[in-house]
Amino acid sequence: MDNARPHRANPTRRLARLLLGLLAIQAFVALAAEGPTVPLDDGPHVFHANGGMRAFWVCNGLVLSEGVPPEGIVTPRCGYPHPLAMPPRTTIDDATPYRDGRIVAVSDIHGQYGLLLRLLRANGIIDAGDGWAAGSTHMVVAGDVMDRGDRVTEALWLLLDLQRQARRAGGDVHFLLGNHETMVLGGDLRYVNPKYAVVARLLGRSVPGLYARDSVLGEWIYARPVLLKLGDTLFLHGGIAPDELELALRIDETNAAYRASLGKPKNEVRADPATARLYDGKQSPIWYRGYFDGRMTPEDVRALTGRLGVARIVVGHTTQKHVSSLHGGRVIAIDGGIKNGESGELLFIEDGKLSRGLLDGSRTSLPEFPAASGYED
Ligand code: ZN
Repeated sequence: MDNARPHRANPTRRLARLLLGLLAIQAFVALAAEGPTVPLDDGPHVFHANGGMRAFWVCNGLVLSEGVPPEGIVTPRCGYPHPLAMPPRTTIDDATPYRDGRIVAVSDIHGQYGLLLRLLRANGIIDAGDGWAAGSTHMVVAGDVMDRGDRVTEALWLLLDLQRQARRAGGDVHFLLGNHETMVLGGDLRYVNPKYAVVARLLGRSVPGLYARDSVLGEWIYARPVLLKLGDTLFLHGGIAPDELELALRIDETNAAYRASLGKPKNEVRADPATARLYDGKQSPIWYRGYFDGRMTPEDVRALTGRLGVARIVVGHTTQKHVSSLHGGRVIAIDGGIKNGESGELLFIEDGKLSRGLLDGSRTSLPEFPAASGYED
């Protein structure tokens, strides 16, 4: 074990790294020129190597690196502010079985870590020290933690660590993958915050390489599901199209098919008949918007939920002003626009009753979706 220190390299490589770092900072400042200049802080990024783990940060534009001690605790340097217990290496997702308890759901966080903290604290899901405070509650994060915002790393570590804490308390945190996670892993970097291109370059990796299978965050993300059924509610990022009903009838198989294809480039997964339907931009579970754009009537949705044997489908992806109820309560839209960095809402399901948890900690009922209100991407 060694202490935090600048990553050692031979003098020439070190100079090259420093110059690259200065260029990278300049590039970041130039890219961020429209907003206030912020220090380039990010991390930790923890990678498995030679039977151990090594943590990297970019703090004030400079790379720090540190071996992870045998007890597996990473001490904060910059970026994520709390100590982190590294999860054991496993491909089995040890989810807590769900029995009837409270559910809270949120989606489309898009790197808005500060807003996520405020929302979870105000609603008593985490305490003032950001620890899990919701006991046996099951929290569902319905995709799109990545892209757009500049605190994606912090949001991911928070969710990973809350999952560990929740499972100990008899609850769980279920992070379901959205189209943006699949895009980043597959190398479609159109929506990546410019900060992460700089961080990746400084760490000698690509952006998808930050979440490669040798990365602790990557290993966790690659094991996440896309579909989840808790009680009589189906959760997923985009939605289930009637033609793709079968994908939601065989949840385990569908999740396994996503897991096996994550990280492959878009052209490849869309060209392969075995995976095309998982990534289709109009019909697939991570992209579908048919509950919002007029493709489905309330009668169609009633038939769909009936065939799925669920009371409701909870989806993110299609942004609303508020967490809203559509199609007579059979579709609940939970992307309340956190990505804009101004407000956000949680969905609570308790004893079959649905409510919105607001940023001031108050609870209120769900508005019916106004049919002509349209939607944002
Ligand atoms: Zn989405």
